[in-house]
Amino acid sequence: MFKIKTHYHINFTALLLLICLLTGCNSQSPNIKSATRDNLLGTTITISIYDNIPDSLFDTIITQCFDTINDIEARMSVNRADSEISRLNENHEGAFPVSDDIYELIKNAIQFSYHTTGAFDISVGSVMELWKQDGDFIFLPSPIDIIERLTYVGYKAISFPADNKISIPTGMKLDLGAFAKGHALEVVRGILIKNGIKHAILDFGGDIFTLGKKPDGSNYRVAIKTPIIGDNSLVCIVEVSDLSVMTSGGYERYFEQDNAYYHHILDPATGYPANNKLLSVTVISPDPIGADALSTAGFVLGLEKGMNLINELEGYEAIFITEEKEIYVTDGLHGAVTVLNEGFRKISYN
Ligand code: AMP
Ligand code: MG
Repeated sequence: MFKIKTHYHINFTALLLLICLLTGCNSQSPNIKSATRDNLLGTTITISIYDNIPDSLFDTIITQCFDTINDIEARMSVNRADSEISRLNENHEGAFPVSDDIYELIKNAIQFSYHTTGAFDISVGSVMELWKQDGDFIFLPSPIDIIERLTYVGYKAISFPADNKISIPTGMKLDLGAFAKGHALEVVRGILIKNGIKHAILDFGGDIFTLGKKPDGSNYRVAIKTPIIGDNSLVCIVEVSDLSVMTSGGYERYFEQDNAYYHHILDPATGYPANNKLLSVTVISPDPIGADALSTAGFVLGLEKGMNLINELEGYEAIFITEEKEIYVTDGLHGAVTVLNEGFRKISYN
């Protein structure tokens, strides 16, 4: 899956006009058809198709897309007791059969864990569970409980005894939350392509896939929110085509207790929210699953280790935003990022 980077630059030569996804100004073009659903994959999902297609075809495609996302959530969510993942997590008797996509995703996850030296680890599920009540990330666990649950974390103990069978040790729980959206984006992209769609934007709660370019040949402009709690402005715009733009940040899911903020991206080494002086990490890649996994991992790894990792991998670029209000961008992305928020400044990282 991974190749060490030799020379990679996203082609941003034809940066023309565009849309502002997060500001909603994409509804101005007459040919754009959009559909939105709330409460899917824990967020709001909007699919916008730029090709000029009949309403009936649009309705058929959209139904297929949302049914598929529903199915992914029903099988992969740890918040649903009857999902495949929840049943795997309760199975302590050896090999548990899972469907093809879950099997592949978990195999993929192990690769990401190795490449990120465990910063990305889906076996963080048992600790993640402690931080939740009724599926919501709202509860500060006791240090003793965290230490006890940490004994069940460790991707190296996940095994694959036979095709489509997974075995995890008693007490371990898997959580696919860090790259399920990336997977869903990948699947929905496939549905659009199969139906002949060439120009579209998939917006999964600010995690984006842009299919092709805009019909006029220009790139899409994807806005990234200022990654500060309570600040709804946009920090920068990145111009892309045929790429996913996936962001992880401490402002997304969090709670406050005794004047401290706790967010949902855990350092698997400590069981506590990662604290690396980062506000957010955005990874840009043709591969939405990798971008999703690596944005979570980058947020855990911190600026230096995270950037060095992205720079080594072919096909991934990144934007790391620090608490010092610095926007570090990888070389291949430099010309494609425009800062909007004057409180922040852009710095090249190489
Ligand atoms: P994301 O928003 O893509 O960064 O994913 C965050 C979600 O991934 C959390 O809500 C957890 O379900 C899960 N998660 C948290 N920390 C980690 C980690 N270090 N490795 C893998 N999954 C994680
Ligand atoms: Mg992620």
